[in-house]
Amino acid sequence: MSKKAIIYDLDNTIYPVSSIGDKLFAPLFEAIEKNGQHNDSMDAIRKAIMRTPFRLVAQSHNFSEELTQKGIDIQEIIDYKDEINTFEDYPEIKNIPGERFLVTTGFNTMQRSKIRQLGITDDFKEIHVVNPVETSKKEVFADILKRYGYKPEEVLVIGDDPESEIAAAKALNIPTVLYDKHNEQDANAATYKITHFAELKDIYLNS
Ligand SMILES: [Mg+2]
Repeated sequence: MSKKAIIYDLDNTIYPVSSIGDKLFAPLFEAIEKNGQHNDSMDAIRKAIMRTPFRLVAQSHNFSEELTQKGIDIQEIIDYKDEINTFEDYPEIKNIPGERFLVTTGFNTMQRSKIRQLGITDDFKEIHVVNPVETSKKEVFADILKRYGYKPEEVLVIGDDPESEIAAAKALNIPTVLYDKHNEQDANAATYKITHFAELKDIYLNS
Protein backbone atom coordinates (compact mmCIF):
# COMPACT_ATOMS: atom_id res chain seq x y z
CA MET A 1 0.00 0.00 0.00
CA SER A 2 1.55 3.27 -1.02
CA LYS A 3 2.08 5.90 1.64
CA LYS A 4 0.56 9.36 1.65
CA ALA A 5 1.99 11.18 4.65
CA ILE A 6 4.62 11.21 7.38
CA ILE A 7 4.00 12.59 10.86
CA TYR A 8 7.21 13.87 12.51
CA ASP A 9 8.11 14.46 16.13
CA LEU A 10 10.12 17.62 16.94
CA ASP A 11 12.40 17.34 19.98
CA ASN A 12 15.40 15.04 19.45
CA THR A 13 13.99 14.06 16.05
CA ILE A 14 14.43 17.27 14.05
CA TYR A 15 17.08 18.85 16.28
CA PRO A 16 18.97 17.82 19.43
CA VAL A 17 17.52 19.38 22.61
CA SER A 18 20.98 19.14 24.18
CA SER A 19 22.21 21.80 21.71
CA ILE A 20 19.97 24.46 23.29
CA GLY A 21 18.94 22.88 26.60
CA ASP A 22 21.21 24.77 28.99
CA LYS A 23 20.09 28.10 27.59
CA LEU A 24 16.45 27.17 26.97
CA PHE A 25 15.88 25.76 30.44
CA ALA A 26 18.20 28.14 32.38
CA PRO A 27 15.37 29.79 34.38
CA LEU A 28 13.83 26.38 35.12
CA PHE A 29 17.11 24.81 36.29
CA GLU A 30 17.75 27.84 38.48
CA ALA A 31 14.35 27.52 40.16
CA ILE A 32 14.83 23.78 40.76
CA GLU A 33 18.28 24.36 42.22
CA LYS A 34 17.03 27.12 44.53
CA ASN A 35 13.94 25.25 45.66
CA GLY A 36 15.59 21.91 46.32
CA GLN A 37 12.31 19.98 46.77
CA HIS A 38 13.28 16.90 44.75
CA ASN A 39 15.12 13.66 45.31
CA ASP A 40 17.84 13.51 42.67
CA SER A 41 21.04 15.24 41.56
CA MET A 42 20.73 18.36 39.40
CA ASP A 43 22.72 16.59 36.72
CA ALA A 44 20.23 13.73 36.49
CA ILE A 45 17.32 16.18 36.51
CA ARG A 46 18.90 18.30 33.74
CA LYS A 47 19.38 15.24 31.56
CA ALA A 48 15.84 14.00 32.19
CA ILE A 49 14.29 17.37 31.33
CA MET A 50 16.03 17.38 27.94
CA ARG A 51 14.62 13.95 27.10
CA THR A 52 11.22 13.68 28.77
CA PRO A 53 8.09 15.85 29.16
CA PHE A 54 8.37 18.03 32.28
CA ARG A 55 5.34 16.64 34.13
CA LEU A 56 6.75 13.12 33.92
CA VAL A 57 10.16 14.29 35.14
CA ALA A 58 8.51 16.13 38.04
CA GLN A 59 6.68 12.94 39.01
CA SER A 60 9.59 10.55 38.69
CA HIS A 61 11.95 12.87 40.60
CA ASN A 62 9.43 13.58 43.36
CA PHE A 63 9.17 17.31 42.80
CA SER A 64 6.92 18.95 45.38
CA GLU A 65 3.59 20.26 44.11
CA GLU A 66 4.91 23.78 44.59
CA LEU A 67 8.04 23.12 42.54
CA THR A 68 6.06 21.35 39.81
CA GLN A 69 3.71 24.32 39.47
CA LYS A 70 6.61 26.78 39.52
CA GLY A 71 8.32 24.79 36.75
CA ILE A 72 5.15 24.88 34.66
CA ASP A 73 4.68 28.63 35.21
CA ILE A 74 8.26 29.30 34.11
CA GLN A 75 8.05 27.16 30.99
CA GLU A 76 4.69 28.55 29.93
CA ILE A 77 6.34 31.87 29.10
CA ILE A 78 9.65 30.67 27.64
CA ASP A 79 9.98 32.09 24.14
CA TYR A 80 13.32 31.02 22.66
CA LYS A 81 14.88 33.74 20.52
CA ASP A 82 18.24 32.32 19.40
CA GLU A 83 18.96 30.35 16.26
CA ILE A 84 18.46 26.59 16.42
CA ASN A 85 20.06 24.18 13.95
CA THR A 86 18.36 21.01 12.73
CA PHE A 87 20.19 17.70 12.70
CA GLU A 88 22.46 17.65 9.64
CA ASP A 89 20.36 14.97 7.93
CA TYR A 90 17.05 16.84 8.32
CA PRO A 91 17.03 18.23 4.71
CA GLU A 92 16.71 14.63 3.46
CA ILE A 93 13.04 14.65 4.42
CA LYS A 94 12.34 17.11 1.62
CA ASN A 95 13.28 14.43 -0.94
CA ILE A 96 10.36 12.30 0.21
CA PRO A 97 7.04 12.76 -1.60
CA GLY A 98 3.72 13.09 0.24
CA GLU A 99 2.48 15.32 3.04
CA ARG A 100 4.47 16.21 6.15
CA PHE A 101 2.88 16.84 9.55
CA LEU A 102 4.63 17.97 12.73
CA VAL A 103 3.20 16.91 16.10
CA THR A 104 5.00 17.83 19.31
CA THR A 105 4.05 17.72 22.99
CA GLY A 106 4.90 20.62 25.29
CA PHE A 107 4.30 24.23 26.20
CA ASN A 108 2.74 26.07 23.29
CA THR A 109 4.83 29.28 23.29
CA MET A 110 8.08 27.37 23.83
CA GLN A 111 7.41 24.73 21.16
CA ARG A 112 6.28 27.33 18.61
CA SER A 113 9.34 29.49 19.31
CA LYS A 114 11.61 26.50 18.64
CA ILE A 115 9.82 25.74 15.37
CA ARG A 116 10.14 29.41 14.35
CA GLN A 117 13.86 29.57 15.26
CA LEU A 118 14.52 26.33 13.38
CA GLY A 119 12.98 27.97 10.29
CA ILE A 120 10.92 24.86 9.47
CA THR A 121 7.37 26.24 9.63
CA ASP A 122 6.84 26.05 5.86
CA ASP A 123 8.11 22.47 5.66
CA PHE A 124 4.87 21.11 7.13
CA LYS A 125 1.26 21.00 6.03
CA GLU A 126 0.10 21.18 9.65
CA ILE A 127 1.87 21.83 12.94
CA HIS A 128 0.30 20.71 16.24
CA VAL A 129 1.52 21.45 19.75
CA VAL A 130 -0.13 18.96 22.07
CA ASN A 131 -0.99 20.11 25.57
CA PRO A 132 -1.05 16.80 27.46
CA VAL A 133 -3.58 18.16 29.94
CA GLU A 134 -6.12 18.66 27.16
CA THR A 135 -5.37 16.04 24.52
CA SER A 136 -2.78 13.48 23.38
CA LYS A 137 -0.63 12.62 20.39
CA LYS A 138 -2.90 9.63 19.79
CA GLU A 139 -5.96 11.88 19.50
CA VAL A 140 -4.14 14.29 17.18
CA PHE A 141 -2.90 11.43 14.94
CA ALA A 142 -6.40 9.95 14.79
CA ASP A 143 -7.81 13.34 13.86
CA ILE A 144 -5.29 13.80 11.01
CA LEU A 145 -6.17 10.35 9.62
CA LYS A 146 -9.86 11.12 9.82
CA ARG A 147 -9.72 14.60 8.25
CA TYR A 148 -7.57 13.49 5.30
CA GLY A 149 -9.15 10.05 4.90
CA TYR A 150 -5.80 8.26 5.37
CA LYS A 151 -5.77 4.59 6.30
CA PRO A 152 -3.31 3.84 9.14
CA GLU A 153 -1.02 1.92 6.76
CA GLU A 154 -0.81 4.94 4.41
CA VAL A 155 0.97 6.95 7.10
CA LEU A 156 4.31 6.72 8.93
CA VAL A 157 4.97 8.20 12.35
CA ILE A 158 8.62 8.97 13.09
CA GLY A 159 10.14 9.99 16.40
CA ASP A 160 12.79 9.26 19.01
CA ASP A 161 10.58 8.19 21.92
CA PRO A 162 9.12 4.65 22.10
CA GLU A 163 6.82 5.76 24.93
CA SER A 164 5.45 8.86 23.22
CA GLU A 165 4.73 9.13 19.45
CA ILE A 166 5.73 5.52 18.77
CA ALA A 167 3.29 4.16 21.38
CA ALA A 168 0.54 6.53 20.20
CA ALA A 169 0.96 5.40 16.57
CA LYS A 170 1.05 1.72 17.53
CA ALA A 171 -2.27 2.14 19.34
CA LEU A 172 -3.76 3.30 16.01
CA ASN A 173 -1.98 0.62 13.91
CA ILE A 174 0.09 3.27 12.14
CA PRO A 175 3.54 1.91 11.12
CA THR A 176 6.32 3.51 13.15
CA VAL A 177 9.91 4.58 12.54
CA LEU A 178 12.22 5.04 15.49
CA TYR A 179 14.79 7.77 14.80
CA ASP A 180 17.68 6.43 16.82
CA LYS A 181 20.54 8.72 15.91
CA HIS A 182 23.06 7.09 18.24
CA ASN A 183 21.79 3.55 17.77
CA GLU A 184 21.11 2.98 21.45
CA GLN A 185 17.54 1.66 21.41
CA ASP A 186 15.99 -1.76 20.96
CA ALA A 187 15.43 -2.62 17.27
CA ASN A 188 11.99 -4.01 18.21
CA ALA A 189 10.74 -0.75 19.69
CA ALA A 190 9.17 0.28 16.37
CA THR A 191 8.25 -1.17 12.97
CA TYR A 192 11.44 0.33 11.50
CA LYS A 193 14.51 1.91 13.00
CA ILE A 194 16.82 4.40 11.29
CA THR A 195 19.88 6.39 12.32
CA HIS A 196 19.79 8.83 9.39
CA PHE A 197 16.92 10.48 7.48
CA ALA A 198 18.40 9.27 4.18
CA GLU A 199 17.03 5.84 5.15
CA LEU A 200 13.46 7.10 5.44
CA LYS A 201 12.63 7.54 1.75
CA ASP A 202 13.14 3.88 1.01
CA ILE A 203 10.83 2.85 3.85
CA TYR A 204 8.23 5.36 2.71
CA LEU A 205 8.28 4.23 -0.92
CA ASN A 206 8.66 0.49 -0.43
CA SER A 207 6.70 -0.50 2.64
MG1 LIG B 1 11.09 13.63 20.79
